[in-house]
Amino acid sequence: MSITMEQITELSRSAFCTAPKHLTTPQLHLVVGKAVMGEIAQNWSRSRKKHAEGRRAYYFSAEFLMGRMIYNNLYCAGILDEVKSLLKSKGIDINQFEEIEDAALGNGGLGRLAACFLDSAATQEVPLDGYGIFYRYGLFKQLIKDGYQVEVADDWLKNPDPWCIRRDDQSQIVQFADSTVVAVPYDMAIIGYGTKNINTLRLWQAEPVEGFDFLAFNDGRYDDAVKNKNNCENISKVLYPNDNSYEGKILRLKQQYFFSSASLQDIIRRYKKKYDTDFSHFAEMTTIQLNDTHPVVSIPELIRLLQKEGVDFDQAFDIAQKTFNYTNHTVMAEALEKWDTGLMKMIIPEVYAIIERINERQWNDLKYKGVEEHNINAMGIIRDGKVHMARLAMYVSSYVNGVAWIHTEILKNDVLKEWYWVYPERFQNKTNGITQRRWLGLCNPELASFITDRIGSGWLKDMSKMEKLGAHINPDSVKEFNKIKLAKKKQLAAYVKKMDGVEINPKFIFDIQVKRLHEYKRQLLNAFSIMWIYFRIKSGQLPDFQPTCFIFGAKAAPGYKRAKAIIKYINEIANLVNNDPDTKDKLQVVFVSNYNVSYAEKLVVAADISEQTSTAGTEASGTGNMKFMFNGAVTLGTYDGANVEIAQQAGEENEYIFGGRVEDIERLKKEGYDARALYNGNPMIKRVVDTLIDGTFSDGGAQGEGSFAELHNALINGTNWHHADHYFLLYDLEDYVAKKLQANTDYKDRVAFGTKCLKNVAHCGIFSSDRTILQYAEEIWKVK
Ligand SMILES: *Cc1c(COP(=O)(O)O)cnc(C)c1O
Repeated sequence: MSITMEQITELSRSAFCTAPKHLTTPQLHLVVGKAVMGEIAQNWSRSRKKHAEGRRAYYFSAEFLMGRMIYNNLYCAGILDEVKSLLKSKGIDINQFEEIEDAALGNGGLGRLAACFLDSAATQEVPLDGYGIFYRYGLFKQLIKDGYQVEVADDWLKNPDPWCIRRDDQSQIVQFADSTVVAVPYDMAIIGYGTKNINTLRLWQAEPVEGFDFLAFNDGRYDDAVKNKNNCENISKVLYPNDNSYEGKILRLKQQYFFSSASLQDIIRRYKKKYDTDFSHFAEMTTIQLNDTHPVVSIPELIRLLQKEGVDFDQAFDIAQKTFNYTNHTVMAEALEKWDTGLMKMIIPEVYAIIERINERQWNDLKYKGVEEHNINAMGIIRDGKVHMARLAMYVSSYVNGVAWIHTEILKNDVLKEWYWVYPERFQNKTNGITQRRWLGLCNPELASFITDRIGSGWLKDMSKMEKLGAHINPDSVKEFNKIKLAKKKQLAAYVKKMDGVEINPKFIFDIQVKRLHEYKRQLLNAFSIMWIYFRIKSGQLPDFQPTCFIFGAKAAPGYKRAKAIIKYINEIANLVNNDPDTKDKLQVVFVSNYNVSYAEKLVVAADISEQTSTAGTEASGTGNMKFMFNGAVTLGTYDGANVEIAQQAGEENEYIFGGRVEDIERLKKEGYDARALYNGNPMIKRVVDTLIDGTFSDGGAQGEGSFAELHNALINGTNWHHADHYFLLYDLEDYVAKKLQANTDYKDRVAFGTKCLKNVAHCGIFSSDRTILQYAEEIWKVK
């Protein structure tokens, strides 16, 4: 496809009565977006019709972390360079779109995974459409004030967005016990790269019933809707800012039911066009992937909707079981959703009644299979006044998958072991991936050209081709790679200066940890290692230390006090080491504000070292680790999540793996772990940990939870809800510092270190989400 300057000029004149060069950035964004959407309209409707003919898959997710759309859409449409020079010919710099907001309708990895999957499915021509929520406010924006996180609402629609098309005619009604809302779809085109195929992401907005034009329905639903006027358009107002944890809030349950019900009604409407009320082909035509437990209420809702269509319970149950699949994303207890039965009964009583019936059926089923009573209890959907959503998903689905090899092993052997005993055939692994288009082609054109010059451009659609780069790793190519890395570090330094006002030196090693702030991810461990190195530089024990810039970026959930204290602690360290004349030429620490997809695109390309420090057994996969690998950083990480497979692919000698393994952590948990003994037994551990309480830093006088003293106490004494140091920082700290210093020493030999980096690039192919999505398509959805 192609667009012309005439098209852009015409749209500019008709919408704003002026030439493109006089438009504001949001106006120009609108104009270019409209031009692209106009051009793709035909391919989009052709793709939709084609998908309607056969079996198709749907991805249900409460989060889609799409990031900034404009560059990616131009890139996937194959017109980024063209539009860039068109604009340039009119004196317009395409970089001004850097001002355009990200679509941040997700928290972190889980939401970004959904976005990468859509990109890959569109490119690989897999008939996969996404369903989610059109949040009016996405993930909050983060400011750092005096070292503390401050949250600001993400008003991402304050300027109109050209990439979403409102489809009033496809609206649905969603009914709660106390209210009724209209679900209005906003459709985003998901443009496949190097193909005419275009998939759809349909996001629902909740709107009040009053004022809605029900004439379009003409089927009696109006009467239902007006019966209850207690509307709640608040439902799609804001994304819950929790990552890897949940809050049992009414509004959150309403959000989950809202988009699940609207999406299922939409799917049923489409199905009925073909088969009317004969639902015997439903599971043949439809497969639905549940992204974590957030959309699991879809299971009883589908049964309810089918019953309303005249299908009996047993058949509806059977259809649901064949239709749904469930992806587990976490083993963290605080993230496993359990809704209060009372709450469910109050909000969605008909759905709750169906869950009770499923629960009864489960008991009979398991009894019949001879499962022992205590195991039935461990699997029970309704237990102790709670509905266990993961168990509901396990029972009424065809397949369950983990998201990295080690994670799936933990599910089978530990978290879901009773399920594995009864239904081993349901378990699969689908190691996560990321799209090489956004995370290499678009964000690192310099490295992309380096690769394409050597192996051709086939890797953009087939990452197995990346292996061929291995034959091109030699001292000359490594030097060229190192030059590219330096250029990306300079670009990042300029960006950090602009966004955060901090000067960083591109000649330093860039050691980067960016991800959500969470105790299990252990940013605090990284902070401790910096203090360790700081003290040793001060006392003259590290004369050969290669200057290093430690970069952090992370949002903390607003209610997560400890995470916020850790942000403040890192900023206190930055303040100390950046201003100490003994260290400022060797150590820099910067905490960049508002880490998001667009910032990630600038960070992952500039890293020498990728920090992946989660406690073994806690990070299901991680995808940030893959972004760094694609762009030629070595991993300094634990044997956790996809790090295990990254080391396996690139060779362990090309990463820096440290710390306890899953087996070690298991043993410590079983046999007892004495954090205090480690603290008292190693003066260096004691010294760095005590910087939390010895006056080195100030937490601004914070009391109790969220104070530095509380962090210290949690490590050394524990609390009434967890053991001392429950993420094993002190256990891993010494080995971590040793591996960090080893990487620092290795960096001196620039060719040897650059070779490690390039080996990571050459062996990153399997972490393409194209590979992941084709596995889902073949092994779970059976649509390919
Ligand atoms: C990739 C990504 C994540 C996930 O990072 P992990 O290191 O896997 O936790 C989170 N947030 C953003 C903005 C991302 O782009």
